[in-house]
Amino acid sequence: MSAPDRYAVFGHPVGHSRSPGLHARFAELTGQLITYEAIDVPPDGFAAALERFLATGGKGLNITVPHKLAAFDAADVLTPRAQHAGAVNTLALQAHGLLGDNTDGAGLLRDLQHNLEIPLAGRRILLVGAGGAARGVLGPLLGAEPAVVVIANRSPRRAEELATRFASDGPVSGIALDGAQDTFDLVINATSASLSDEVPALDTRIIGARTFCYDLAYGTGLTAFLRWASAHGCAAVADGLGMLVEQAAESFELWRGVRPPTAQVLTELRDAMARP
Ligand code: NDP
Repeated sequence: MSAPDRYAVFGHPVGHSRSPGLHARFAELTGQLITYEAIDVPPDGFAAALERFLATGGKGLNITVPHKLAAFDAADVLTPRAQHAGAVNTLALQAHGLLGDNTDGAGLLRDLQHNLEIPLAGRRILLVGAGGAARGVLGPLLGAEPAVVVIANRSPRRAEELATRFASDGPVSGIALDGAQDTFDLVINATSASLSDEVPALDTRIIGARTFCYDLAYGTGLTAFLRWASAHGCAAVADGLGMLVEQAAESFELWRGVRPPTAQVLTELRDAMARP
């Protein structure tokens, strides 16, 4: 029997990553023979770690904070969505070199449209945050033909820059956090505020009785942003666990050519997280 193909996630910190468990389960359910580990790579250590990984037979990587830009630079070839986002969260060793992809946007869209059945076409969307995750999801969001995507960020300049970068993809503008003062159909929190149990300083008028609120962050209970949105009367909320599973499945499919059953894995993960 041949040795399993080797995969990993590079990040810093990376100890909390759910990727090893997810990919092990995907492999089990699809009959793929792989290993997958979490490798802590310090901020200035990406190039050396990548060289070591490839020299020891590595076939593919997930990339998380703070290495998505270094992975973008390291790729020999980029998918159009990674090129547009300017960030890479998946590397795959292929015949023509190292392919860089960004599966964050596809993962979010699959969770919103397929799992949660939230329509995007013709809707008014507020995207809160202008960091790496926002860059990854903005192109696919605009591709779903919403009425508008407004990016609101603590540092308004980053929101404006992002809007300019994606201006040819559809109606998009960038403003300050408190600049959004009317009601949206969908509010997506793509800031890292929930990781420190904080809520971005948003105007409550963005929330109406029909507003759906989504947080890219996830945890055992509702995130701070989702608690805030619920308290202000939004229609429904969802965290980013579904996106996590779906973006991982996109990477797995790129590497192995087979799509894992994400609905089953998401249910298993939610059940496991609900257990004390
Ligand atoms: P970055 O560090 O690149 O960006 C952070 C963003 O959050 C910036 O826009 C920053 O604003 C903003 N921010 C941070 N703290 C606050 C605060 N207290 N109030 C308001 N804004 C704040 O992070 P990422 O974009 O990589 O990640 C963002 C989130 O998305 C994280 O929670 C991450 O876990 C999650 N994520 C989830 C995924 C999933 O699969 N579910 C996939 C990828 C990311 P400023 O520009 O002003 O500093």
